[in-house]
Amino acid sequence: MIPLPSLTSLHTAPMGTDLIDSYGRIHTSCRISLTDKCNLRCQYCMDENATFVNQSQILTSQELGVLARILVESGITKIRLTGGEPLLRKDIVELTRDLSSLKGLTDLALTTNGLLLSDLASDLRTAGLDRLNISLDTLDPTQFKTLSRRNGLQYVLAGIDSAINAKFGSIKLNAVILKNINDDQVVPLATYAIERGLEMRYIESMPIGAQDWDKSAMVSADQIHSILEAKLGPLEPEPRTDEASPAETWKVKNGGRIGIIASVTKPFCSQCNRLRLTADGYLRACLFSTDETDLKGFLRPNLDQISLIQAIRQTVWNKGPGHGITSNSFVKPTRTMHSIGG
Ligand code: SAM
Ligand code: SF4
Repeated sequence: MIPLPSLTSLHTAPMGTDLIDSYGRIHTSCRISLTDKCNLRCQYCMDENATFVNQSQILTSQELGVLARILVESGITKIRLTGGEPLLRKDIVELTRDLSSLKGLTDLALTTNGLLLSDLASDLRTAGLDRLNISLDTLDPTQFKTLSRRNGLQYVLAGIDSAINAKFGSIKLNAVILKNINDDQVVPLATYAIERGLEMRYIESMPIGAQDWDKSAMVSADQIHSILEAKLGPLEPEPRTDEASPAETWKVKNGGRIGIIASVTKPFCSQCNRLRLTADGYLRACLFSTDETDLKGFLRPNLDQISLIQAIRQTVWNKGPGHGITSNSFVKPTRTMHSIGG
């Protein structure tokens, strides 16, 4: 990872309009987790017996609306709704409608496991959702059960069909590939996506799940690239139009595009412009942060907007230079992926 020079020794975030950290990175993107609950139990993400935050601690749609407005007024232009499984929120369509009308927000996206998407895709599109990422690790129902500890692949595939019909600005499919579990799916997934005009994205498995991370089970970006080239022909690298985008993308010879997110082997921390808000209202400057800021305390019982804005700015300012996943001193956060928001 490229070391980032710190801008200043200031301990307090400077006044200004941008959400800037002490390394000069300006933050314009926020992932908002709507729930820590999920209807799957993916091995790499959460424990079969995961416990969940008490419902009274989860941000209400009204609180989310206030926080999102303040984040957008502070410089956030892109919001991705996530979880847990965001489609488990009963108010997901209304929430999407409210957020999509925020002045200054240019992109509203959502990441889902797709199980409940079939009935919701069209309403979400109408409510103003611009883009969709759907997780799809395998096309094999037995592997789906092994990976997610649940059945339901047919519902995910139906959800993808509904999303295509709803004509989102973009639909990407996300897969985490694990050795000896679904590594035979790299090419079938690419073919499935390309045939439907969708982009397939492979994500390196990261040490953020409930289980101890087995790096040897990770299929690296380079390995995925080689598997794809061996079957689909040379991949043509595309120029990075958005430096902060986590994926490197390639054009496939006979049409289509694939993307690979090499968070472990080629970290992109020096370009990171992303914040994360957990479903219970904690702001995290990095997926791997070991500290986080309780924003709910500034919303309940009454909104303290000035302190809230200062707390957001200070959290961003204090962001570290990188996640350090591969360093010997790396300490895994106590929250796992489902309770942070991937
Ligand atoms: N439930 C939704 C879903 O699965 O799409 C949204 C939340 S999930 C936490 C968001 C993304 O995080 C998914 O694409 C999932 O594959 C990814 N993810 C979860 N655990 C991961 C891990 N340990 N390493 C890499 N990606 C992970
Ligand atoms: Fe649920 Fe998504 Fe985690 Fe799978 S990756 S357990 S679908 S939150």
